[in-house]
Amino acid sequence: SAYVFHFGGGARNDDPRAKDKTITGGKGANLAEMAGIGLPVPPGFTISTEVCTQYNSAGKQFDADIKAGVAAGLSHIEAATGRVFGDAANPLLVSVRSGARVSMPGMMDTVLNLGLNDVTVEGLSADSGDARFAWDSYRRFIQMYSDVVLGVDHHRFEDALEIAKEDNGYYADVEMSADNWRKLVGEYKAIVEEELGRPFPQDVHEQLWGAIGAVFDSWESERAKVYRKLNDIPAEWGTAVNVQAMVFGNMGDTSATGVAFTRDPATGEKAYYGEWLVNAQGEDVVAGIRTPQYLTLAARERAGAKPLSMEEAMPQAYAELASVFELLEKHYKDMQDIEFTVEKNKLWMLQTRSGKRTAKAALKMAVDMVGEGLIDEATAIARVDPMALDQLLHPTLDPKAPRDVLAKGLPASPGAASGAIVFDADTAQARAERGDSVILVRVETSPEDIHGMHAAKGILTARGGMTSHAAVVARGMGRPCVSGASGLSIDMAARKARIGTRDLAEGDVITLDGSTGEIMAGEVAMVEPELVGDFATLMVWADKHRRMKVRTNAETPMDCQVARQFGAEGIGLCRTEHMFFEAGRISAVRQMILAEDEAGRRAALAKLLPEQRADFIAIFDVMAGLPVTIRLLDPPLHEFLPHADAEFEELAEVTGLGVDHLKRRAGELHEFNPMLGHRGCRLGITFPEIYEMQAQAIFEAAVEVATKSGEAVVPEVMIPLVATKKELQILRALVDRVAAQVFADKGKTLDYLVGTMIELPRAALMAGEIAEEGTFFSFGTNDLTQTTLGVSRDDAARFLNPYVDQGIYPRDPFVSLDIEGVGQLVELAAERGRKTRPDIKLGICGEHGGDPASIAFCEKVGLDYVSASPYRVPIARLAAAQAAL
Ligand code: PEP
Ligand code: MG
Repeated sequence: SAYVFHFGGGARNDDPRAKDKTITGGKGANLAEMAGIGLPVPPGFTISTEVCTQYNSAGKQFDADIKAGVAAGLSHIEAATGRVFGDAANPLLVSVRSGARVSMPGMMDTVLNLGLNDVTVEGLSADSGDARFAWDSYRRFIQMYSDVVLGVDHHRFEDALEIAKEDNGYYADVEMSADNWRKLVGEYKAIVEEELGRPFPQDVHEQLWGAIGAVFDSWESERAKVYRKLNDIPAEWGTAVNVQAMVFGNMGDTSATGVAFTRDPATGEKAYYGEWLVNAQGEDVVAGIRTPQYLTLAARERAGAKPLSMEEAMPQAYAELASVFELLEKHYKDMQDIEFTVEKNKLWMLQTRSGKRTAKAALKMAVDMVGEGLIDEATAIARVDPMALDQLLHPTLDPKAPRDVLAKGLPASPGAASGAIVFDADTAQARAERGDSVILVRVETSPEDIHGMHAAKGILTARGGMTSHAAVVARGMGRPCVSGASGLSIDMAARKARIGTRDLAEGDVITLDGSTGEIMAGEVAMVEPELVGDFATLMVWADKHRRMKVRTNAETPMDCQVARQFGAEGIGLCRTEHMFFEAGRISAVRQMILAEDEAGRRAALAKLLPEQRADFIAIFDVMAGLPVTIRLLDPPLHEFLPHADAEFEELAEVTGLGVDHLKRRAGELHEFNPMLGHRGCRLGITFPEIYEMQAQAIFEAAVEVATKSGEAVVPEVMIPLVATKKELQILRALVDRVAAQVFADKGKTLDYLVGTMIELPRAALMAGEIAEEGTFFSFGTNDLTQTTLGVSRDDAARFLNPYVDQGIYPRDPFVSLDIEGVGQLVELAAERGRKTRPDIKLGICGEHGGDPASIAFCEKVGLDYVSASPYRVPIARLAAAQAAL
């Protein structure tokens, strides 16, 4: 079959599709790659991702070609190992594992020891000379297979094991004898029969096909769908299935299993990092049943732990492993996340992949690897996910703030978070939707908890190591996480937890420091991040490689300051109506809006003028000569009208008008579609005195700051919601008139620009003509999306999610630009605008200016700048550089 690829055991593998992740998945492609460079990989085969799609669309059937391919794959493994699948004397056992293009929690992960039944277990026992090992493997297989393939709740098996241990007076699994396991296998089979009404499958081929089908089925599971949605993974990708000869880490004290990273995935430090367990199988390390041990002597000493590290306990296998680490890093030129098994002192590689890492680690590794000559600057820039920088741009715990430390766990995912304790994922999600900050506190997490982990600000677990589910998923999501906190015990029934010596209830606030592992009572003060070290280095490289400028959307001097620290090169959008949201100011704005006539409006405007002027002075001061685009008033009126009686009463007091009068006036101004109503330049056209006041404030402020600082101040005055050339013509004349007046009054003249937003489809279409009246365009893609899609930005939440779920739009078009549709209008307007005015300045100031995919599109269209909210500025700088590579 062209859909089954062999690897290991000397398989010839010239087909490039074998190493193509889109075909054989991440795991399969890397197994083929590792085998290809001569690493010890147990022989196996990969069924391609295309089969997943076929299977799921063809009524969950496999055709003859795939059946033949799997048979040939089994023959390959049999030939390479000298064992026979289902053979009574010399049985071949295999593992079956899923492997999508990207690793994906929520899918069936692994079935180990497949091929065991009542007959082959005896063969394994005789052949290995270890009956205990054989029966231990069989009971593991029944439990795993029944859980993930047959859907029998794993608690039933765990309970049976607990009872068996109790009956025998054992504490740990290792005390169980061969006979104990044999007896437990009998109980396990009885559980399966009771649950399913049929016996546990004894036919090894039935077992294999069951497992293969279960992997493909799991691609369609709810959990996998949730994960795909959160991570923008298309359903068409499908998963591959890897079937591989078993090697055993549970064959006594010369056997072991472990997971490792070639560098520290939390900090990025260049030091091997990992966990291992002697005499164990893979799932023991991640499941948190036994506490894994340190890989290296240095790590063990640093932690002050007693049990020997692998470096000490198995020096030979460790040395071989270390040389594999070096080889893999050189080969992949990236940090690798590895699974390995040692069977009777022989090292086997089970998996390698580019390791998930925190943003901090991603930065450090990228910068270090350039220093080591492993990669170049462009690769380093491309390797850091711009959105992951978000993790570093948010506050961390103030080192000077007092901490009431309750207990300490492992520093599994860095960053700090405070929130109310919740004990399950659904509660986490429900409370987060109400706007609460929550910390998800669990014994351990599983893929069923993904939605709760996403909703939580931080995650705390009692069990599990640095490679536990909670740790890996939290790092990937950028959530702070403290795992394996042995001082934590949870009473789910009472919804209470004991942390250290303190009793806490659901809803009590705690703080986590994912960088130290500390768990603290209450909320601890945080400090703003500083962009120094590796961050600064990468940003310098990004700035060198990008073409587009990066500005910010900001209207307070504080935000402008933050944005400048983050590297903003100007203001792309100062929304003047936001300047009036502040307490104390809104009433003058309301007075202006509700005024019956021009005189009333002018009276209110007179109050606003000095405030506006002071605002602009402060902004010009902070921006020190950088370009500042100020948009004249664009208030969707409903955002400003009073609603509550108290608001009317307050307004009545300031204006001296009666409450009833004001209510009547507000009623008159009520609009059915405020977003398409009396807003933007329509306000300037109908009430020119408003824009006159704003223009006056802008130019007076500019003259004052220019005079004071001696630096050039070049205001860019922007007219919103223009649809026609005529609107811009009228308002530009107004701005010019006011500017001339101010310059005459002050005896000083300045350069300034007048331009417009392109945020209506008509404006985009008529851009050629509109460019005659304006020297710059800024794409307001929020409104342009709203008006092109005919989707209200305020009401979309209710139906956009299902739309994205069904793939009608690949992503929320208000978050990531609808390039296919709205993008055409942007492209066309840029083209037509440039035709009229070749040097027209083009930018984007909708939310999309901070979204990497949209930024890549802006680069393609050749915009001069993107403008993003202050915390997105570094993201935009990096994304702009990636787009330009
Ligand atoms: C826009 O419409 O994209 C825009 C930036 O303006 P606002 O969000 O203020 O409507
Ligand atoms: Mg707009």
